[in-house]
Amino acid sequence: MSRSYFVAGNWKMNGSRDANRTLVQGILDGLGSVPAVQLAVCPPQVFVDAVAQQCKGTRLAVGAQDVCDQAAPGAYTGETHAGMVHELGCRYTLVGHSERRSLYGDTDARVAEKFRVAQLSALVPILCVGEQLADRDAGRTEAVLAEQLGAVLEHCGVGAFAEAVIAYEPVWAIGTGRTASPEQAQEAHAFLRGKLREHDAKIADSVQILYGGSVKPSNAGELFACDDVDGGLIGGASLKSADFLGICEAAQRQSS
Ligand code: PEP
Repeated sequence: MSRSYFVAGNWKMNGSRDANRTLVQGILDGLGSVPAVQLAVCPPQVFVDAVAQQCKGTRLAVGAQDVCDQAAPGAYTGETHAGMVHELGCRYTLVGHSERRSLYGDTDARVAEKFRVAQLSALVPILCVGEQLADRDAGRTEAVLAEQLGAVLEHCGVGAFAEAVIAYEPVWAIGTGRTASPEQAQEAHAFLRGKLREHDAKIADSVQILYGGSVKPSNAGELFACDDVDGGLIGGASLKSADFLGICEAAQRQSS
């Protein structure tokens, strides 16, 4: 089964109008060298409109970093409805990023509901899962991944993964400069795909599973060479167009 590579940039709480314009233009200028790679950027919510305008008519997609877990708009101060970012031009949204889970209390149940309401608004959720270092050290990596993925499978059904992306992001590798080895990444990705295969082989084979955690141009190639790694969710290195494109070029090399 051939899946295309997908590289998504998570800008987190970084950027400004001017800096974003320069960053997006730099990525757009390099799109010609990565024709086989799907790309997206996820700016802070407040910049989604401007970034989506700049990307309009190009194949650089835009995603939100999070959406509210409420299916209907209403009295939820500070929150953003999935339909609102969809209206602005988002195709994707992250759900369950480890920073949302650890700093803002997103539980597995809430992440599963965010996944569901994202799809109700025609967004493609990028479900982030990953273990803490203590989990890995205690041999609990697969148990954690099974719990996090299982919550969405139970709530939304395996069919929901026909229009979704998974990002495996070991928490100990996010923003730390420490990357999972290709063997560790492959093992986790194969485990996640295997969990989906227990329910539906076709969906398991077609879902893109991205690796995230200190991916750089220098280590992207060996990670993307793994059978079950279909691209990357990139934090720090997505803030410089040359680095982001360097990672996309590593994906392009694996595609050809
Ligand atoms: C992330 O936040 O999703 C991420 C992978 O960050 P970094 O690439 O900086 O580790």
